[in-house]
Parts: sequence; C-alpha cells; structure tokens
Amino acid sequence: MALLRENLPGDIVIYQAGWVHPVLSPPLENAALAVRDGNIVALGSALDIARKYPNPAARHEFPGGVLIPGLVNAHAHLELTYMKGLVPPREDFTGWIVDLVRAKRTWTREEFEKSVRAGRRELLRGGCTAVGDIVSAEAEVGAMFAHREAELPLRTRAYQEYLGVYEEGRPPFQEDRAKLLYPGISPHAPYSSDTDLFRKCIAQARERGIPLSTHGAEIRWEEEYLLEGTGPLFDFLVKLGFAYGDPKPWNADRPSRLADWLAAESPPSPLQFVHGTWLGEDEYAALRKIATTVVYCPSSVAYFHDGRDEHPVQALIAAGISVALGTDSLASSTSLNMPETCTMARRAHPALEPSTLLEMATRAGALSLGFENCGALAPNMEADFVVFESPGARPASADEALELALLSGFAVPRLHVIAGEPYAFSELSPLKA
Ligand SMILES: [Zn+2]
Repeated sequence: MALLRENLPGDIVIYQAGWVHPVLSPPLENAALAVRDGNIVALGSALDIARKYPNPAARHEFPGGVLIPGLVNAHAHLELTYMKGLVPPREDFTGWIVDLVRAKRTWTREEFEKSVRAGRRELLRGGCTAVGDIVSAEAEVGAMFAHREAELPLRTRAYQEYLGVYEEGRPPFQEDRAKLLYPGISPHAPYSSDTDLFRKCIAQARERGIPLSTHGAEIRWEEEYLLEGTGPLFDFLVKLGFAYGDPKPWNADRPSRLADWLAAESPPSPLQFVHGTWLGEDEYAALRKIATTVVYCPSSVAYFHDGRDEHPVQALIAAGISVALGTDSLASSTSLNMPETCTMARRAHPALEPSTLLEMATRAGALSLGFENCGALAPNMEADFVVFESPGARPASADEALELALLSGFAVPRLHVIAGEPYAFSELSPLKA
C-alpha cells in the first residue's frame, strides 16, 4: 500500500512547493498549504505559512516541484481498460460498437472487475484523484464491486448506464447492492436511447439528487438521425432490432438535436454532455441554459475521426460554456494518463492556455461530477492535490511549471495527497491484476 504516513486528528501538515496553482486564484511562487483533518486550512507564501504554523506535525518540501489540485478525469469507462487494442477503429462507427459489444459479451464478471481495478490504478498513477466512470449493464456487478471494494482512494462518480429502447426501463439502480458512495445516472446517447428512457433517467436524477451524464454530438450522423430519422444510425438500429417501420425523427413531435431537446426538458445539474464534437454554434444557447459541462476527450475524438481533432473546445470556452477533460475508455483511447491527455488537447489546439487546460482537468471536471469541494486549492476545500517534481531547479514561470507537470506527455507525480493523506503511487503497476 502506498500510504506514506497516517496523520492524527488535529495534526497540521505543511506541503511546500516551488509553484502552487490554486486554480481559483493566481499561481504562487514558493508557496505552501497547511492541511488539517483532510481539509486545506491555509494557503500562502512559504514564509507566511511557516510563521502561522511554526510547529507542524510534518512538513513536505518540493523546492523544484509544482503543486496542483488532484486531476479529474470527467469521463471514463474503466470496465473497458483491458479492451486496449482489442477493438480497432473502423470506418463505420456502428461497426465498431458491434465489435465492442461482441467482445464484452465474452467477458466474465471477474474480467470486468480486474479491468476496473487496472483502470483505477492507472488513473491514480497519473495524478488523477477523481473520476466519472460509466458502468454498463453487462459489467454492472463486477464493476460496482471493484469500485466499492477498491483498495485505492480514487473518488468515483459511478454512472449507471441505460441504453436501448425499453417498455418499462430497466430495474432501478441497485444501490443497496452496490453501496456506492457517489451514484450517478447516464442515458447512453440519443441514437441508443429513446426520449422516454431519457425522461426516466432525468426524473430519477431529479428525485434522488444525483448527477447525469450522456454522450452527445459524438459522431457526424447523429444530427441526421435525430432530425430526420434516417442515415447510418437508423440502419444500425434496424439491424439491432431497436427500430422498425419508417424512419422518423428521434423526438417525432418536435424534431431537435440533443442540446435543444434537453434545454426544453430542464434537467437538473450537474449534467455532462460528453464529447460534443459535432455541436453547432446555434446549440450553445441551449447548452448554457442547461448549465451543462461539455466533456472533451481528445484521444477518443482523434480515434473516431482518422486522427483529426476539430473539436470546438475553444469556441465553447469563448462562449462561456464549461469544458472538462476526459479520457473515455481504452477501447477508443490510447491513454488513461491525464497529463498525456492534457498534452494531446494542447497539440490539437495549440492556442489553449496552460491555465485553461489546468482548469479543464481539475475544477471543471470536479463540478461536472458534483464534487464541489474538489478541483481547486483554497481554505475549507478538500485536501486533494498532487506534486509533480522537476528534475532541475524551480521552473522560471507559472506557465513553465504547468508545461512541466501537464503538457509534456505521460507523467507521474511524485506525491499524491487525497482527503489529507499523503500517498506515493508512482510504483503502481497499472495493467497487472
Ligand atoms: Zn464514453
């Protein structure tokens, strides 16, 4: 186990680094945090914190290090971690889905469990301290068990996924069995779930006060299917037995794209709109109205678009829409490492500022998952942060510090602090059971 030292109740522990990025306030050079009972109690210059707390129970110093909030992977399917390389991309997205479903059908509960555990390890190793994970019906028992029993302290919003066109919908979320700390609910996507199922999920989210997540505007043909009821997605649904008769729009009375449809339904927040690759500017007003967070998964976007990434991430941010970062699953993504994911986003969109990417990978993700006290550093927030260490002296600027921590490809922090406890996960072996 990677716990470095157990703190006693009331202990003050100081963490000092060459750069601290609080996210909600400007970066600080040579700064420190004081932590007590799992929470941040003070944040300031190293000198001020040393004066305020002259006799801490412990002090951790990283003079060349960069201290940032724990990274947040807003969207993953950890049950598919072991699918890495098993479902190659195809020209037709629907053919890829069929390949994936076929592969999943051969898996046992134990395989899903191992897969989730491997994903959790890999996320933690890369400095992630919170994740939004989609749990499908096929993997449900194994995945829930792996999350609940997990020995590693990764804060997990587990969204139970609904998909298909059901008369009565699936049985309600088996919360008693799963004993999940943070449940959520996810109608999969408008091409796989009808409006009735979407409404049931929204009603359940409202009733139980749990977050929602759905895939939307992920592929080019979604708009045609929603507005006209035709195209490759309709043909696919016919083949699966999900659609019959003449093509008709998804929401026959009022044909609309997903963002507009959701805006008319007034779903509760938080609500994630995952992907959004094909969102049009005329949908931004609807997105703002439902206060959704768009989750951009750069590796997955490139995978399904021949390596091209024309995601409207910059236009969305400029329009005041919150955008978080996710990895999606290793069935369609090359990495679960969040620094590598930030680097991919930067490569595809060089104009994104380091501080914007940091916010996407921390605060925006945390809020989209309903973790309001995470993803930023300030008094009374949870003490969830990571320290990346530079090989040399302190980076010359705040941006350089972020380049080092988040924008130089695959990276593993030197130290994690989760709920106030310090851990070292760099030795975690990610893909072994
Ligand atoms: Zn997904």
